[in-house]
Amino acid sequence: MIRDVVVVGGGLAGLTCARQLQARGRACLVLDAGDAVGGRVRTDCVEGFQLDRGFQVLLTAYPAAQRWLDYDALLLRKFSAGARVWCEGAMHVVSDPIREPSDLLATLKAPVGTLADKIKIATLRSAARRGALDGIFARPEATALEALQAHGFSAAMIERFLRPWLGGIFLDDSLSASSRMLMFVLRMFAEGHAAMPAAGMQAIPEQLAAGLAGGTVRLNASVVAVGDGAVTLQSGERVAADRIVVATDGTTAARLLPELPPTSWRHVTCLYFAAPASPLGAPVLALNGSGAGLVNNVAVMSDVASRYAPQGQALVSVSVLKDPPGDDACVAERVQAELAGWFGTPVRGWRWLRSYRIAQALPVRWPLERPAPVAVRPGIWAAGDFLTTPSIQGAMEIGERVADAVLA
Ligand SMILES: Cc1cc2nc3c(=O)[nH]c(=O)nc-3n(C[C@H](O)[C@H](O)[C@H](O)COP(=O)(O)OP(=O)(O)OC[C@H]3O[C@@H](n4cnc5c(N)ncnc54)[C@H](O)[C@@H]3O)c2cc1C
Repeated sequence: MIRDVVVVGGGLAGLTCARQLQARGRACLVLDAGDAVGGRVRTDCVEGFQLDRGFQVLLTAYPAAQRWLDYDALLLRKFSAGARVWCEGAMHVVSDPIREPSDLLATLKAPVGTLADKIKIATLRSAARRGALDGIFARPEATALEALQAHGFSAAMIERFLRPWLGGIFLDDSLSASSRMLMFVLRMFAEGHAAMPAAGMQAIPEQLAAGLAGGTVRLNASVVAVGDGAVTLQSGERVAADRIVVATDGTTAARLLPELPPTSWRHVTCLYFAAPASPLGAPVLALNGSGAGLVNNVAVMSDVASRYAPQGQALVSVSVLKDPPGDDACVAERVQAELAGWFGTPVRGWRWLRSYRIAQALPVRWPLERPAPVAVRPGIWAAGDFLTTPSIQGAMEIGERVADAVLA
């Protein structure tokens, strides 16, 4: 049987591509190497805890997510619009005064930048919201750090708040990501909320897959070659298709289609701990503004969505940028000792559950442009976040746009 389209990869890009193709009446088959859909958006259930494979959030303002996801059915749970910043030996409140007016006084008093810095956050945010979203990708490009410095932020504001906050988003605390990505992220935060589904991040790809015709997705189907009107699976099976979309991660895509450039990656390590009680007591992100230590950010997942932990326990997620030396248990011990400095001795009673070292977390994108989906070879397209803004929005949008190109 020859299918209209075979999509290789059932991450957000591949699933959105398949949804769009089916919405336009095309038969398609999604082949994925994994044992579930989602790619980098997966959730493991461990002893009643929901562990996302790396801390990540959905920004509700993502336009492609709004087009394709049913937010109500996902039971989205929101983070509050602020953060806690650990610096000078204490935890400080830094919140968006418009959305969290009760935090205004504490935010102004925090030793995290000056009053002028706090006003500059508002002016940078307005700049990010100006014009059409696409316009951001046509603006002059510098590094995020250069853009923040050019906007006049003080060194203290950058080191204590902006570097750990944005570093946690870009998975790069050198802030060498594109200023266009900075503006895109600021705009998404300004126009919506950071949220996650009550059942864990994997509920997002599962919802996309549930909207496909039965039998569309084939799991444990690793593709080793693409071309000549067919894809070849590791088992040797050939699956014929008029058109093929390669929607794997960038490294695999370049292996299957050597015309594509190689992808380099940002790394992150995410550690999970079970705690008898939440050290934060609120759905906020805690940032390391001290400039020392391994930890970049901490969130108590069960403060945001209670189903992340069994009743009576809290799930603490800790992100460490890069790949810390030492085995997982030893890194967990160091992280726990560090956080005992933030939250006190109860941290010693936390139980380390699991660590995820994710070497291929986010592709490095420079320059950051909104690409035109073009065929890599006649009848063969590529989709994936390695071609666009590395994000849920980028992956879904490129999947949608490649489907349109295939249909055209
Ligand atoms: C730790 C972490 C934190 C993140 N934080 C955020 C965040 O907070 N907000 C945000 O918007 N984005 C975040 N992201 C980015 C976001 O998750 C990705 O941009 C997006 O999921 C990429 O989707 P994709 O479909 O392009 O690729 P992938 O998710 O990599 O999907 C590719 C698929 O291809 C399959 N595949 C690979 N090789 C083969 C093969 N040979 N044959 C068949 N199938 C194959 C894989 O199994 C996978 O399912 C984060 C990512 C990570 C890892």
